[in-house]
Amino acid sequence: MRVLVNAGPWLPVPPRGYGGIENVVATLVPELRELGVEVVLATVGDSELPVDERLAVYPRGQFPLLQRPYNQVCGVVPAHQHAIVRRAERGDIDLVHDHVEAAGLTMLASLGLPSLHTLHWDLRKHPELYGSISGRVRVNGVSADQLTHAPEALRRHSVGHVHLATPLAVGADRRDPVRKEAYAVVLGRVNAGKGQDLAARLAHEKGFDLVLAGPVGPCHNPEDLAAADPQNPDVAFWHERVAPYVDGVRVRWIGTVMGKARDELVAGARAALFPLRWNEPGGTAVVESLALGTPVVGIARGCLPELVEHGRTGLLTTDEDELGELVGAARDIDERECRAQAARRFTPAVMAAAYLRIYESLT
Ligand code: UDP
Repeated sequence: MRVLVNAGPWLPVPPRGYGGIENVVATLVPELRELGVEVVLATVGDSELPVDERLAVYPRGQFPLLQRPYNQVCGVVPAHQHAIVRRAERGDIDLVHDHVEAAGLTMLASLGLPSLHTLHWDLRKHPELYGSISGRVRVNGVSADQLTHAPEALRRHSVGHVHLATPLAVGADRRDPVRKEAYAVVLGRVNAGKGQDLAARLAHEKGFDLVLAGPVGPCHNPEDLAAADPQNPDVAFWHERVAPYVDGVRVRWIGTVMGKARDELVAGARAALFPLRWNEPGGTAVVESLALGTPVVGIARGCLPELVEHGRTGLLTTDEDELGELVGAARDIDERECRAQAARRFTPAVMAAAYLRIYESLT
């Protein structure tokens, strides 16, 4: 089977730093190839992921365009979309697997080939785009909850959900435990939906140490904040809601952490906190935390109840104040169970096998 995977024109695959969708593609594609799928990857010129064929109109990622308002971004890169259509017209592609948001839906509808669009986030804000789903286009979610909240026009075309995966889950059940420190960690973009303000308040009220890791808007380091646009919603959220709690002792913000430093930070934490105020659609950071042997403590919404087994791999509640109590209680969760479940449920091979089953049902 030959599948054209569209990772979009925004960032290279794998991404050098931030890059959610590109990370998922980088995790999925090598496993698909292991399963015998030939992959034609639509991406940008500086992608380094090995594939059978690469389609790249732009030499480098067009990510800076994404700083514009969303509705101005749709369709700003038609050359990328047209290249995909032209490649598909050669007739040797069995299926297109698109990961690129709304612009991809319009493109897919015109192809006449079986197509799968993976929903990476919540598309509720742009119902005008669903009209373009027709014919052989199908969509999948990254959690069952995400589909439950999707508009009817999307759900009608759904083939179900496939949970996200992490390479950290491979062999996670065989790794030695890491010594836990007393702190809890929130790993993710600093954003009202991710709820860092709630975590920071609870750290002071309930008396636990908290490390916040992740970018604030465009700022990856605390020293970049002074020059940041105060109108940026995440920067404003930081200044108004989070910064008042950040004293550098009880609550610290360390900016973006990557690679080994990120893994050590998460593995050493007694709990990975997800104080959600939105319906987290997929939660890569959730499966990473489990793979690193760190219990997940969070608000029971979005994908969390699907990824975390309450009482075995973490503790979930719908009560924001109770969340603080659960950080202490997390020491009773067996980290071996977290790693064992990650190794069973969240490896790239598990994810690729699920996608292959969908491809086979559509072709
Ligand atoms: N991440 C990271 N360093 C940080 C903060 C986040 O490497 O300082 C990574 C995190 O490990 C995960 C991704 O960014 O792989 C975030 O994906 P997730 O699905 O959790 O959240 P999103 O930002 O896509 O809503």
